[in-house]
Amino acid sequence: MAGTRTFTMIKPEAVAAGHAGKIIDMLISNGFRIVALKYTRLSHKEAGTFYEVHKERPFYGELVDYMASGPIYAAILEKENAMEDFRKLIGATDPANAAEGTIRKNFAESKAKNAVHGSDSDENAALEGAFFFSSREQF
Ligand code: ATP
Ligand code: MG
Repeated sequence: MAGTRTFTMIKPEAVAAGHAGKIIDMLISNGFRIVALKYTRLSHKEAGTFYEVHKERPFYGELVDYMASGPIYAAILEKENAMEDFRKLIGATDPANAAEGTIRKNFAESKAKNAVHGSDSDENAALEGAFFFSSREQF
């Protein structure tokens, strides 16, 4: 049965630390189907556009620099209740507050360098997925 979709990125520091394979394994073993996946790098301009919703927040500049600092994995995931279930699997923004067994508890370095992104609504998941993937890259 087809579920709903969410969007994720494995962030630069987690890729650099060699955690991407384990993180991808965790998503698959928690029931998320990979609809689309690519290894890519955001330019500074693209990172600024992607995170435009956070433009007014004090950490915006730091966030954009960080997300453009190295290659990432971007993916569209499918599961029943995908957005909410994926937010549960990744855990709280700050790994100090993330529950045991979550991706951020296992792999995040800090509140800023927190290993993964997860969309916060079905609408944003669709927009973010379309930012990275054409329809012919989605299966
Ligand atoms: P994401 O959108 O990446 O899944 P989130 O929804 O848990 O994370 P947001 O509030 O949307 O958290 O913040 C986006 C990202 O900005 C965070 O994941 C983190 O990398 C960074 N960030 C958030 N708060 C701070 C902060 N106080 N200082 C530095 N960076 C922060
Ligand atoms: Mg967010």
